[in-house]
Amino acid sequence: MRCRCGRKAVYHRRQSGQQLCAICFSKSIHSKFRKTIRAHNYVEKGDTIAVGLSGGKDSTVLLHLLSDLKKDRPFEMEAIIIDEGISTYREKTIEVAIKNCEILGVEYHIYSFEKEFGVTIDACDSRVCSHCSFCGVLRRNLLNQKARELGAKKLAVGLNLDDEVQSVLMNFLRGDLFRFGRTGPSYTESPYFVPRIKPLRDILEKEVMLYAILSKIHVDHSVCPYASEAFRGDIRDFLDRMESKRPTTKYSLLRSYDRLAPYLQEQFTSTISLCSQCGEPTIDTICKTCSMLNTIKKMKER
Ligand code: SF4
Ligand code: ZN
Repeated sequence: MRCRCGRKAVYHRRQSGQQLCAICFSKSIHSKFRKTIRAHNYVEKGDTIAVGLSGGKDSTVLLHLLSDLKKDRPFEMEAIIIDEGISTYREKTIEVAIKNCEILGVEYHIYSFEKEFGVTIDACDSRVCSHCSFCGVLRRNLLNQKARELGAKKLAVGLNLDDEVQSVLMNFLRGDLFRFGRTGPSYTESPYFVPRIKPLRDILEKEVMLYAILSKIHVDHSVCPYASEAFRGDIRDFLDRMESKRPTTKYSLLRSYDRLAPYLQEQFTSTISLCSQCGEPTIDTICKTCSMLNTIKKMKER
């Protein structure tokens, strides 16, 4: 099959029926990325953007695309690398993350759960909660805290379209309507939360992967040993099955959700206060991180 430019096609975009060669495919990814940045005013002149970088394909591609964008508009960028304490897995991805920062000349900062919270994911007691729930809560907390301390105006995360629609369904199925309304593209200014931006949210996961391969970006493809525990995995399988029958499923779900999100945010509000234990923002008296760490401590003392 041929791309419309005449070169040999390497990818069939089923949603649009397009056959794309490597060059046209990469151009289309840059164009989608920039369109998302423009649509949500994600990057403004003079911003300092902290990038949550793991060394996996999504955050690494995000770092490269933002570096490319920097050539055209002036903003500062630093990477935050989190070491959750997952042996045999995280060491390798951190190495890759550092290598990419060095190639692109991006300053990076590494923070570990062990040093910041006194725990590792490996040592997490699965009777308290799943490794993934614990990891997600602590990572979100640490990324926000460190981005704020670095003086970042925004925190860029490598969530792709698949991640976004999975989160939408997960929060809906869990009945967590507060978070359900806050998976959207927009961000609000807050003195406590560094606004999270998601410049890859309109790009399918498999397209992020293909872009990394075609651009010869060094990424780590290993899978976290706890990934199979995640509720997200079941949702991913379900959405992939739907998408294979109806190729526009994920796009349609995201578009419908984005139209609903402003109404949901209006309906399901909460007051943000500061955690009485650690001083980080929360909608409860004690934040989720402290509450999980307290339970773990109690279980150890038994
Ligand atoms: Fe953390 Fe779970 Fe992701 Fe592993 S799969 S990095 S434990 S959230
Ligand atoms: Zn707290």
